[in-house]
Amino acid sequence: MANNEQTFIMIKPDGVARGLVGEIIKRFEAKGYYLRALKMMNVPKELAEEHYVDLASKPFYPGLVNYIISGPVVATVWEGKGVVVTGRKLVGATNPLASEPGSIRGDFAIDVGRNIIHGSDAVESAKREIALWFPEGLAENKPTSLQWIYE
Ligand code: ADP
Repeated sequence: MANNEQTFIMIKPDGVARGLVGEIIKRFEAKGYYLRALKMMNVPKELAEEHYVDLASKPFYPGLVNYIISGPVVATVWEGKGVVVTGRKLVGATNPLASEPGSIRGDFAIDVGRNIIHGSDAVESAKREIALWFPEGLAENKPTSLQWIYE
């Protein structure tokens, strides 16, 4: 399994508005993953629509797009072994009431339409999302602590 797998994690407008950015970043850092990109931004409607294009036929899609563009988000890319699957575990189930306590959604959210964070669901979707949200590319970041995280 590659140590340089990447995933796209976005703190949604409710997570930003509720002051949970630091808490969320802390959890990924504490696990041993490291940041490759981070930016706060207002999301153009076309970007929100493209990000969720696979859900375009769902009845909640218009509300979902409006939610994502309702305030600034924090878009991030994280790197490390198994970060897509393990990142989803850190994030928790889509419906926060079904998310395990200890997960981000399980600890901080209630409604599926206000679930505070997005995490890529597969390596392929992570690649698509990273290219979509960071067309400018990623920063180089190779922490010296990696020798203490990987044997
Ligand atoms: P996930 O974000 O866990 O990958 P999905 O890709 O299925 O989940 O859905 C994307 C987002 O759409 C969810 O995180 C949530 O914000 C929203 N969503 C999903 N299902 C519903 C629903 N039934 N009602 C409102 N919003 C929903």
